[in-house]
Amino acid sequence: MRENINPYEIVQRQIESAAEKLGLERHVVEILKKPMRVISVSFPVKMDDGSIQVFEGYRSQHNDAVGPTKGGIRFHPEVNIDEIKALSMWMTFKCGVVGLPYGGGKGGVICDPRKLSQGELERISRAFIEAISQVIGPEKDIPAPDVYTNSRVMGWMMDQFSRLNRSFSPGVITGKPLIIGGSKGRNEATARGCVYTIVEAMKDLNKPIEGATVAIQGFGNAGRIAADLLTELGCKIVAVSDSKGAIYDPHGLDITVVKRLKDESTILEYGSSSQIDPSSLLELNVDILVPAALENVITTANADRIQACIIAEAANGPTTPEADQILIEKGVLVIPDILANAGGVTVSYFEWVQNLMNYYWTEEEVNTKLSEIMIQSYHEVSKLAKEYQSDLRTAAYMISLLRVKDAMNARGWI
Ligand code: GLU
Repeated sequence: MRENINPYEIVQRQIESAAEKLGLERHVVEILKKPMRVISVSFPVKMDDGSIQVFEGYRSQHNDAVGPTKGGIRFHPEVNIDEIKALSMWMTFKCGVVGLPYGGGKGGVICDPRKLSQGELERISRAFIEAISQVIGPEKDIPAPDVYTNSRVMGWMMDQFSRLNRSFSPGVITGKPLIIGGSKGRNEATARGCVYTIVEAMKDLNKPIEGATVAIQGFGNAGRIAADLLTELGCKIVAVSDSKGAIYDPHGLDITVVKRLKDESTILEYGSSSQIDPSSLLELNVDILVPAALENVITTANADRIQACIIAEAANGPTTPEADQILIEKGVLVIPDILANAGGVTVSYFEWVQNLMNYYWTEEEVNTKLSEIMIQSYHEVSKLAKEYQSDLRTAAYMISLLRVKDAMNARGWI
């Protein structure tokens, strides 16, 4: 039988297995297996050549028992409704693991930003916000950056929402440019949070972080900043990849050079002798593997060939449940996405708090608070995993499921 890689069905299975360990009531599982609201929109955008193109997008709000829903907006040609639903569900559990007062949301527009001009990108961003403006807001649902969206896009989106509402509303969206209410440290937060969990996991395994070898799949916001931070800690980044290909040097890549090449042309310019097949990057003999791109990259097709001791999921949904099982049997320590990449939404929360207070923190304050939350959450998850003899993913879900259940209970929903 072929492996099911529909992310919506995958997250439902993940919920089921953690709920079973907890002996959770059936109705709780049934509520959480579906998003409470999903909207599908289509909108016309004038392109630079004068033509009109119709774009489609979605916003899914999974559960708002704990607080307003929260999660990014991705721009990608393969965005689809099941993916967005799943991503919104992962956000609920992510916020739950680190104890943020949010439920989960996610949005996406089917488009390829690599083929769009800045003007086209801006018009798509504004039109999408207008299309979903009824269901978002600082106390309702708060978007943020995700795959192929950035602070520039968040700036346009915040402006559009503020115009529509005729009032300055920085709290409607996070990941904004600093000058209009962004938070210091937000841009680095996903990678920084991920690195904190890696450091704790290495301590758990009694392995030194200094000199550890790392392969990073994906060189976007999370991947490239993780490469920098891990280099600072003395790790050796031996391989990185992006959507165009992969490079490998067993002696360690010069990350400053890789970043410059990525900005100027492509990482493949690093040299033809260093190019490898992107799929083989995942199977390299390294200490730490960081999937930092899209879903379903670790599957039954490659899980048994993975040699890393630790997989830190900077991406959302990179590992399928079947692959998870294989990795557990092999003894690979998987730091699950809902924990490993929760640093992004954690500093988004700090940004939102700063917006609501109109009082801004130093970078040091942000990073200190982030490290406290990430380290504490890692240990909570790791402790529960030991107690229940489960993997970290199941334990992370267990913590979250209980928080959301308690909130639903306290509100009298169940
Ligand atoms: N898109 C990021 C994630 O998947 C950040 C979400 C946020 O900051 O709200 O966690």
